[in-house]
Amino acid sequence: MSFADLGLSDELLQAVEAAGYTEPTPIQAQAIPPVLMMKDLIGIAQTGTGKTASFVLPMIDILAHGRRRALMPRSLILEPTRELAAQVAENFEKYGKNHDLKMALLIGGVQMGDQVKALQEGVDVLIATPGRLMDLFERGKILLTGCELLVIDEADRMLDMGFIPDIETICSKLPVNRQTLLFSATMPPVIKKLADRFLSNPKYIEVARPATTNTNIVQHKVAVNARKKREVLRHLLRTDNVSTAIVFCNRKTTVRELAKSLKRHGFAAGEIHGDMDQPARLAELERFKAGDVNILCASDVAARGLDVKGVSHVFNFDTPWHPDDYVHRIGRTGRGGATGRAFTFVAPEDAEAIDNVEKLTGGKIPEFDLKLEEPVEAREERPKTKSKRPAPEKREERVERAPRREPRAEEEPRRERRQRRAEPEPADDGWNGPVPDFLNVSAFA
Ligand code: ADP
Ligand code: MG
Repeated sequence: MSFADLGLSDELLQAVEAAGYTEPTPIQAQAIPPVLMMKDLIGIAQTGTGKTASFVLPMIDILAHGRRRALMPRSLILEPTRELAAQVAENFEKYGKNHDLKMALLIGGVQMGDQVKALQEGVDVLIATPGRLMDLFERGKILLTGCELLVIDEADRMLDMGFIPDIETICSKLPVNRQTLLFSATMPPVIKKLADRFLSNPKYIEVARPATTNTNIVQHKVAVNARKKREVLRHLLRTDNVSTAIVFCNRKTTVRELAKSLKRHGFAAGEIHGDMDQPARLAELERFKAGDVNILCASDVAARGLDVKGVSHVFNFDTPWHPDDYVHRIGRTGRGGATGRAFTFVAPEDAEAIDNVEKLTGGKIPEFDLKLEEPVEAREERPKTKSKRPAPEKREERVERAPRREPRAEEEPRRERRQRRAEPEPADDGWNGPVPDFLNVSAFA
């Protein structure tokens, strides 16, 4: 299958070739022909499968005929975030370079004046986030009655961000006789309802999910209390044959703090998160690729679009909130025939998130049988005054030799001491994971 088989114009094919794409992705191959035939369409495919070009390409050919009018965009693409909106705009620029199409972006954080000016001159494509669009619409600065093609992109993210009511309002302002395309990584019931209401007789396309097909990744979930995550991570980093690892966290503050903590424990760790500018992220990535650091702590947004693949391990320090992020994250390991390992930490508060992940990937992820050799309550952060820190291996040794029944009280956080005195049940400290081996052995034997 080549792009030329899909019915796109020659001008467009040239632009696609110039962009370096040789073959359509499965969602592109299936979606482009019906979109060109002006059908409504629902396209379900994982993040990173090329959904953008599957609507941008046919749209360029559809919009090639027709005339622009002031204040009345001819087509509308809704995106949940301004980053995604900007990416779609870049796609239009790249593939539309042989066409005379005008585009406007309507997103937060950009001067409204320029956006309104572009609209007044007439645009073929308006790319907008729902909030900004509603804002402008309510001020009478825009008319949606000439809009004959609507794309609702990343619909499940729209849902997560609370945009569904806005989208319903927007849909009702558009002409009834229009073409509507909806793209999403997943199809929760609310999105299904939205599609039933605003799409007419749509073609439904669903592309197989990579997580269910890539058998090169051994996946595990690890039940762990939030307070123990760092310790369990260190344990796995030391014992699971880790050569290179990416550790994903849901928040950038977690990324920062985790990287710091790992370094304090003697690991060669780096970090990538949204508070760093792109040059800084790339520099950090280079350090990782060069092997200066072998553990990279990352947030989803920062890691997206960066070429970090082929690592031996992926750790989900937090279960991702968006199940498609799970697929995206673990896809960074198990490349090129090598087997990768993916560990997902599941704290009690991650119950719903892991449920969604398992629904998406279509099966239960096996529990990892965690065998902690150091005490579960090992000292997480040692007092700052102890400046000379033993190397990690040394420390483990020492921890092993100091049996848990004889805690070095002066080093323990107060809370743990109190717990110990009150504890007839050793494991009853909020630890919800498997009972570590050492608890089965009497320290006095
Ligand atoms: P999605 O919206 O499904 O998450 P995107 O449209 O953002 O995915 O595309 C993901 C990545 O794949 C982008 O970097 C894009 O440039 C690339 N891509 C898209 N189509 C192709 C193709 N036919 N061949 C190679 N790369 C592609
Ligand atoms: Mg997309």
